Amino acid sequence: MLDVIALGSRYGRIPALAGVDLRVGRGELVALVGANGAGKTTLLRTISGVQPASSGSIRFDGQDLARRSARQRVQLGIVQVPEGRQVFGPLSVEDNLLLGAFARGSSAGLEPVLALFPALQNKRRQPAGTLSGGQQQMLAIGRALMAEPRLLLLDEPSMGLAPRLVAEIFAQIAALKMRGTTILLVDQNARAALAIADRGYVLETGRVVLSGAATDLLRNPQVQQAYLGM
Ligand code: ATP
Repeated sequence: MLDVIALGSRYGRIPALAGVDLRVGRGELVALVGANGAGKTTLLRTISGVQPASSGSIRFDGQDLARRSARQRVQLGIVQVPEGRQVFGPLSVEDNLLLGAFARGSSAGLEPVLALFPALQNKRRQPAGTLSGGQQQMLAIGRALMAEPRLLLLDEPSMGLAPRLVAEIFAQIAALKMRGTTILLVDQNARAALAIADRGYVLETGRVVLSGAATDLLRNPQVQQAYLGM
């Protein structure tokens, strides 16, 4: 579904990505792991079109995205859940969700999305800014689901959450995959991300240094030492 070929991206003269090749097949959950500053967020932002590519190409369903704006990419079904959730604090939970559907002109109903996140059900009229971090993350994911994504880009969904909530968020992401959503997941928690992923990529200073089946990466001594604290 997604084919990233020799992708480069830079901030002024500073390269953030160089020669990145990455694929995500329909229905797959692919994890992208790497240290702080490796370029994970930049890669997601370049795929969603918020950050320009400086070289290489990105194809979605065989279609070159080079001339597609971020907005057009949303309309094609590429939907990103940004790092730090970025919910609209003063707006209600319900309005945050409705904005997700508005971006793609989707007619997704609130009820199926709220059913996935029962913690949000009785808070639907509450300002999003009053929710806990875990609930805001669920809302950020729910808002993206309202756009009926074909490819969901998740940036650091477990960031700053208590261990119990981290487990809950990863279980929910695994459940989304089981329902057929195609997902590219970035998370500092490499063990948890690879545990639910089909395949993974390891990014170091803007380059892919390893890739393979998630089970193989979890057993790889290099990955264990650098990212799994073993
Ligand atoms: P983190 O987990 O800390 O978010 P990351 O792997 O997502 O890290 P990026 O945020 O993509 O990494 O950053 C990749 C590189 O680009 C880093 O060297 C970073 O300092 C640099 N960078 C990121 N955003 C900017 C920016 N707006 N301006 C200049 N340099 C940037």
